[in-house]
Amino acid sequence: MRKCVPRPPAGPEARLPVTAARKAPPMSPTRTASATAPDLAISARELRKTYAGGKTALHGVTLEVPRGSMFALLGPNGAGKSTFINILAGMVHKTSGTVEIWGRDLDRRQRDARLAIGIVPQELVLDPFFTPREALELQAGFYGVPKSERRTMELLRAVGLDDKADAYARTLSGGMRRRLLVAKAMVHNPPVLVLDEPTAGVDIELRRKLWDYVRELNTAGTTVVLTTHYLEEAQELCDRIAIINHGRLIACDRTDALLSQLDAKELVVRVAEALAPGQVPAPLAAFGAAVDAEAGTVCFRFRPSETPVGRLLAAVTAAGLTVADITTREPDLEDLFLRLTRESDAAREAAA
Ligand code: ADP
Repeated sequence: MRKCVPRPPAGPEARLPVTAARKAPPMSPTRTASATAPDLAISARELRKTYAGGKTALHGVTLEVPRGSMFALLGPNGAGKSTFINILAGMVHKTSGTVEIWGRDLDRRQRDARLAIGIVPQELVLDPFFTPREALELQAGFYGVPKSERRTMELLRAVGLDDKADAYARTLSGGMRRRLLVAKAMVHNPPVLVLDEPTAGVDIELRRKLWDYVRELNTAGTTVVLTTHYLEEAQELCDRIAIINHGRLIACDRTDALLSQLDAKELVVRVAEALAPGQVPAPLAAFGAAVDAEAGTVCFRFRPSETPVGRLLAAVTAAGLTVADITTREPDLEDLFLRLTRESDAAREAAA
């Protein structure tokens, strides 16, 4: 069974959220039993879920989310992401395995575990007859947050809904409802915030606003776990990424470490001279270059760990060509995601 145990933070920036987490009290002192913050915000061990119909959505997933991280849980449709999140939210009962949220076992300290987490669900579930202010007040009451500690307007301001405080939820746009759900998840000031596809259907500008707020929360110490279909968003925002496929963890690491696994790069050199179609000069052929005579370019696909770019450019010169321009393309999370999920699908088929 694959296990995901975090490596130590790589650089000073990786330590920032953790430091901030120590500064910012994660929960209202009146409701926080233990003052010591755990190293892991979430720890799932051998988590398994088989639904009543017999479908196993999680096959023993072991996953650790370090405190202070901005963590993406990715996977194709049906991978088991929502099942995992719904187990954290207490909406789905696990079949076996253990889960700790903020060091509190979900079986033995269910209430405490719930207090430590805020979940933004995928569906836009809001009572249409409540205003954002009422919705937050009600949620705060549900969590037993004393009136003196409520931050209703502060939260509405943070998600850009203060001017809609007294509008009925039914009059809010999809993006506004999504942001209201984020505010709702934060009323009890949980140290862990989980967002399930938070930007689905939210336009680019509001997505940015939402992410700015989530980033701020993370910088102030909130551990953030999110699922998203926008892989570029996960790559940009998250310091750690886990990928699940068919209920199994297939990758989990720091984002930079995962991306460096690909060890593939593309270099396109535009040359000053005319190139003959289909003819690759010998010094370039040695590097497996492809020539596009029409575009006047030579394209190399190479492993940066084995071939420095300088050697490729030297080969261009050795071929009697003059470099007019260069562009490089780094592999991104999408490339990695596709590679890993395809590999895991192939291994699964081979084993079947
Ligand atoms: P994801 O969120 O990654 O798309 P899900 O956790 O929703 O994946 O689903 C994982 C698998 O479990 C899928 O095959 C899905 O059909 C199945 N599944 C999800 N919810 C239920 C349910 N309530 N009953 C039966 N099967 C379910």
